[in-house]
Amino acid sequence: MSDPSVYRLNSKEVARATEEWLAKRGVTKGQIGQLVMLLQKDYFPELTLDECIVNVESVLSKREVQNAILTGIQLDMLAEEGKLLPPLQNMIFNDEGLYGCDEVLALSIVNVYGSIGFTNFGYIDKFKPGVLKKLNERNGKDVHTFLDDIVGAIAAAASSRIAHRKQAEREAMEEALSGGDSGPDTP
Ligand SMILES: [Mg+2]
Repeated sequence: MSDPSVYRLNSKEVARATEEWLAKRGVTKGQIGQLVMLLQKDYFPELTLDECIVNVESVLSKREVQNAILTGIQLDMLAEEGKLLPPLQNMIFNDEGLYGCDEVLALSIVNVYGSIGFTNFGYIDKFKPGVLKKLNERNGKDVHTFLDDIVGAIAAAASSRIAHRKQAEREAMEEALSGGDSGPDTP
């Protein structure tokens, strides 16, 4: 592959690898869906877990999200294997609080559905519910420095998607009830 002109990106391969690596690292769509449920159930009491998972799948279908997941998981794994250069090796292995690049990478996922994802991401990062608690348990062997932020970011992005779509549904309903385009402001 020394000639760059022969490189061809295989999008399906990227999507498949993302799904496979998330599973290998112990994270399921259902677990991320539960985080979404936690973030959104107060705003949309009728929301189901299946609906949350559908929104998680939609986030996972985005290439920029897949890229962030693969990059983060790879760095976690290299840290587990002790293959990073010092001092980065120790910073990622020990989830150094002042490192911060794990959160920055995760923000590229949060951004996919607009800025309201930031609030959800901040909340989930602070309280670390569900699968995030498990990912943050340290056993001196497994490293999830990047993956915990990535999973939180996927849940935050899926929550934003739900919020945007529910708002659009509500507006469409209100418009239909008020007689379509012939609302009071229409001349
Ligand atoms: Mg982290």
